[in-house]
Amino acid sequence: MTTMRDHLLNRIAATGPITLADYMADCLLHPTLGYYTTRDPLGAAGDFTTAPEISQMFGELIGLSLAQAWIDQGQPAPFLLAEAGPGRGTLMADILRATRAVPGFHAAMQLHLIEASPVLRVKQHDTIARSDITWLDSIDALPDMPLFFVANEFFDALPIRQFVRDGAGWREKRVVADDGKLAFALGGAAPVAALSHRVADTKDSDLVEICPAAAGLAAEIGQRIETHGGAALIFDYGDWRSLGDTLQAVQTHETIGPLDAPGNSDLTAHVDFEALATATPSAYTRLTAQGVFLERLGITARAQALASKLAGKDLENLIAAHRRLTHPQEMGTLFKVIGFYPKSQTPPPGLDS
Ligand code: SAH
Repeated sequence: MTTMRDHLLNRIAATGPITLADYMADCLLHPTLGYYTTRDPLGAAGDFTTAPEISQMFGELIGLSLAQAWIDQGQPAPFLLAEAGPGRGTLMADILRATRAVPGFHAAMQLHLIEASPVLRVKQHDTIARSDITWLDSIDALPDMPLFFVANEFFDALPIRQFVRDGAGWREKRVVADDGKLAFALGGAAPVAALSHRVADTKDSDLVEICPAAAGLAAEIGQRIETHGGAALIFDYGDWRSLGDTLQAVQTHETIGPLDAPGNSDLTAHVDFEALATATPSAYTRLTAQGVFLERLGITARAQALASKLAGKDLENLIAAHRRLTHPQEMGTLFKVIGFYPKSQTPPPGLDS
């Protein structure tokens, strides 16, 4: 059977060195050999755990923020409730449960999930358990109407390119075949238009990353929100502006080299939130730590309400989950959220302009 490594070595033999973006896209989403296309990687028994898998509180508070933004914008009907990269569907299931009591919200909503993995589409179908879900391959296939959008750890899975500063130009880091093995090598120095804003804040041999797909998606989401109304909440790890190599591979909760297990490890890079903000034609909020966002929306009160019904191991798990989602030494500070909203409206609750 052809492995992902064989496939990549054949591809490089045929076309020459490939960019990191080509490498990531193949490893994650190749139709028969890709990481996401062939498995459910989430949870304790899988490779990594995400915020919605830690506690229902994450999705509940996001649901209430989106529903309040919908109310603040005059309860447009119909509207799209959409998620990109929904994993097991846990976040959307929690959003739907938390918004059930919001008058008119479910009646006006059209549920859309943007998901590339057939395996995860089946999981989402089972978890969300509704007959009215539309799955799409890409955001540009969404119908034109107000868009209330969420994504958690989706943008970090989009393919990046890496460049090393060399004088006034940049050398791209590429994947090559070296003695039958995959290796990294730098291409020749050339000016790169997309990096002209990074000449002033970098020096020779600094490494910077760009994610062309992320900027394109942010522009698409923001254009819809500015034109039709709505809001987007985008959660991920990263910072306002990235510097340095953030490409990371994870397998069974351990960090490994990005070339060690192609197609069998998760590959991610930190999100450069400035690039999302620059790309959107809508208003955007200040970049906010996940812990701050969740505290503002009342996660501690919600945890206390849940705790009153629990004891023993369940209570310990709840306390640990609250800490994991919010504490600065856990996910509270590393993970951030940015919101998009129409220029004529107020930011979604939990965020400020
Ligand atoms: N949001 C979930 C899962 C994060 S993992 C959670 O927080 O648990 C990344 C998700 O994005 C997976 O569902 C993966 O299949 C999906 N994905 C990755 N790249 C994609 C792409 N280009 N288009 C659509 N879905 C993608």
